[in-house]
Amino acid sequence: MQPKALQISSLLEHAATHHPDVEIVSHLGAGRSQRTDWRTVAQRARRLASALGRLGMEPGARVATLAWNTHRHLELYFGVSGAGSILHTVNPRLFTEQIRYIVNHAADDYLFFDLGFAPLVAELAPSLPSVKAFVALCRREELPALSLAQPLLCYEDLVAGGDEHFDWPALPEDTASSLCYTSGTTGHPKGVLYSHRSTVLHCWTACAADGLGLRARDSVLLAVPMFHVNAWGIPYAAAMCGAKLVLPGPDVSGERLFALMKDEGCTFSLGVPTVWLGFFQYLESLPEAARHELRLERVVVGGSAAPRAIIEKFERLLGVYVIQAWGMTETSPLATIGNLLPRHEVLPLAERYGVQARQGRAIFGVEIAVFDAEGQRLPIGAPRAGELKVRGPWVVSAYYGNEPGSALDADGWFATGDVAMIDADGFVQITDRSKDVIKSGGEWISSIDLENAAVGHPLVKEAAVIGVRHDKWQERPLLIVVPKEGATVSGPEILDFMKDRVARWWLPDDVVFVDELPHTATGKLLKTRLREQFAAHRLPGDPPAG
Ligand code: ADP
Repeated sequence: MQPKALQISSLLEHAATHHPDVEIVSHLGAGRSQRTDWRTVAQRARRLASALGRLGMEPGARVATLAWNTHRHLELYFGVSGAGSILHTVNPRLFTEQIRYIVNHAADDYLFFDLGFAPLVAELAPSLPSVKAFVALCRREELPALSLAQPLLCYEDLVAGGDEHFDWPALPEDTASSLCYTSGTTGHPKGVLYSHRSTVLHCWTACAADGLGLRARDSVLLAVPMFHVNAWGIPYAAAMCGAKLVLPGPDVSGERLFALMKDEGCTFSLGVPTVWLGFFQYLESLPEAARHELRLERVVVGGSAAPRAIIEKFERLLGVYVIQAWGMTETSPLATIGNLLPRHEVLPLAERYGVQARQGRAIFGVEIAVFDAEGQRLPIGAPRAGELKVRGPWVVSAYYGNEPGSALDADGWFATGDVAMIDADGFVQITDRSKDVIKSGGEWISSIDLENAAVGHPLVKEAAVIGVRHDKWQERPLLIVVPKEGATVSGPEILDFMKDRVARWWLPDDVVFVDELPHTATGKLLKTRLREQFAAHRLPGDPPAG
């Protein structure tokens, strides 16, 4: 067979050749939008790659982005990696200090930014010594007035000056292609460097029927940001299968997502649970007839556990199947995917939701196993939780800058830090992050299960559960609730609702109400902050300390 290397540029050329007129719809904020197609994205990515070469970009150079989901960001995905450099998508929702740390740690050579981030760039620029030039993602007349020590370039000028017939270099398939940092809720963020090979292999999973099942007939609303683990690989996978892409720019409010789904005939979408909470809040404010205007078929929910309430609403209100996926920055991210087996198809809906509320089954390419506290591998179907470990060709080997293999144990497993069970059908159930699990009298209580049960209550908008100190049991669960706007609900009412949905002894000892919960830059509950905030909280019946 031919020793042809797997390359990101070949995904784009495939889309340009076989799906040239398939649309890419890009919203740029402030009501502006742009309609383009795979042919044009490929032409502009080639121009960009050639222009970056003329600018002096070396193979292996790091090109950072501070950008929303737009066609320009898509061109960077292909243009930078295709040319043999590394696209480093920086999460602009991180604290300024973390962004500074990340750009300096990666020693980024160039930084491309959306205009909304101009003030952030002005603030950061003096402390980013590796950056040779900043590039504003705009036309010349929109260029912001920034006084920087380094050159400030205009993206559209670069593209206009490039060669649309540029030949992509032939690269070994293990060439580095992109870089993402974990959000670092504890300690510094860590970099994960992907390769052309890992990226293309991962794409096949997104396009496989028992993967995410992405295909040419799909119109995909990308509600997961392109700076969150390569938007779960979808920009590449959409090129592989020739799907239409709808890129929402900075606005992912429920109202905007609904409008885009309707106007662009979206059949497929992806996002974290908080995005979908906002979506349903808007959808439920509309007359029922509005639901029939959508053509949505499948939605991928990941990044945090998909609450059963979301799975149920998608099915009941829109007839949409929720595919829950689990993964992390270190796994590219797709690792387990929630597609049903034949025996689940015939289950009553209520039971089927229970299957969908798990994190899915292993896909070929990612081996999974659960290990107990003594390091023994638990058999599939064991009724016990342990640490989930993974290995495979799109799983990290070492964090950026560290020795190859240094993130792995002696058998090549990467320990995820997630606590999980694998049921007899091979469905993974993540019960917690190991640092979030509530240890009560020697037993473990799953904060995720409790949160899911609480958000099932019709008057609860969002819920978090943390362990707080307890004299007798070491730790007991505290439920922290954000009620729906205008709703009045009491703690006992919520606990009463939960009592048939979780083991009795798991029921939280106390309920407190807040206006808002803290989130990480990728939309996860920020439990470290909650634990600090409620460190002194005394549970009813637990005598004061000392
Ligand atoms: P971070 O940068 O915070 O590590 P990731 O997106 O890489 O961001 O987060 C990975 C973690 O997110 C996983 O280890 C897991 O704890 C959580 N996670 C992702 N998907 C799911 C899911 N479907 N259910 C439960 N937890 C999930």
